[in-house]
Amino acid sequence: MAEINPDGVSIKGCSIIYAPKGQAGEYAPLATNPYRGCGHGCAYCYVPLVTKQPRPEFDAGAVNRQDFLKRLYSDAAKYQAAGITEQVMLSFTTDPYHPGSTSLTRTTLEVLRAHGMAFCTLTKGGSRALVDVMAFRPDRDAFASTLTSLDEQFSRKWERNAADPADRIAALKAFHDRGIFTWVSLEPTLDVEASLAIVEATHEFVDLYKVGRANYLKEITRTTDWRDYTLRMVDTMHRLGKRHYIKRDLQEYLPGGYPNPLRVTQHHRAI
Ligand code: SF4
Repeated sequence: MAEINPDGVSIKGCSIIYAPKGQAGEYAPLATNPYRGCGHGCAYCYVPLVTKQPRPEFDAGAVNRQDFLKRLYSDAAKYQAAGITEQVMLSFTTDPYHPGSTSLTRTTLEVLRAHGMAFCTLTKGGSRALVDVMAFRPDRDAFASTLTSLDEQFSRKWERNAADPADRIAALKAFHDRGIFTWVSLEPTLDVEASLAIVEATHEFVDLYKVGRANYLKEITRTTDWRDYTLRMVDTMHRLGKRHYIKRDLQEYLPGGYPNPLRVTQHHRAI
């Protein structure tokens, strides 16, 4: 019989569906990564460091992980047997809608569904994700995008092969219009004004924001007033009535007793 970890959401010994730790763990209770590498070429990407993959190889594009589907079936069956139905997030060490073939993403979503699990995709692929929109269920799943700026030139500098911000925003709106829960990752924050402007531009079709800072980017970290940013961000969220989660790196700047739940429901009721 599968052994459940004390956190109650993951199963010991499963490595394809796993419980992310640290900063990644703030995003999702469970995750899976169908691909190795990512063709988006984000200048701030930490993944090659973590996975010890040479940066040129990582940036050359995503390839299907060896035996991924076989291992996914095996892990999903164990989760099903244990009655665990949490959202599984795609992905932390790749992008589910990278610029190459992403047919494995659809299959992954279908396998999770077939085993009673929910899912969430986090992507900078913009409208590339629309190919799978019908696989998402309003009462179970979520669609999310990382945004660092509304400005295409700025994005091109930092995320050279990702969809431009307008396309990512159009995808969020398209999922929202289908009744799917949407959220935006404001991490990394590369420019305080840019991140605040994203909230103003997207709040009508985004259900939740997860706010972080810039890590691994010493110059930005050193020159940004993170306390002022955090306080302005929570003011903006309150003014617009938006749900939000302030990540641990910024929590020291929150007012005492500020309600900031780590996990909230990331789906709607069925439409
Ligand atoms: S989309 Fe994500 S995984 Fe891909 S290069 Fe950018 S930060 Fe790295």
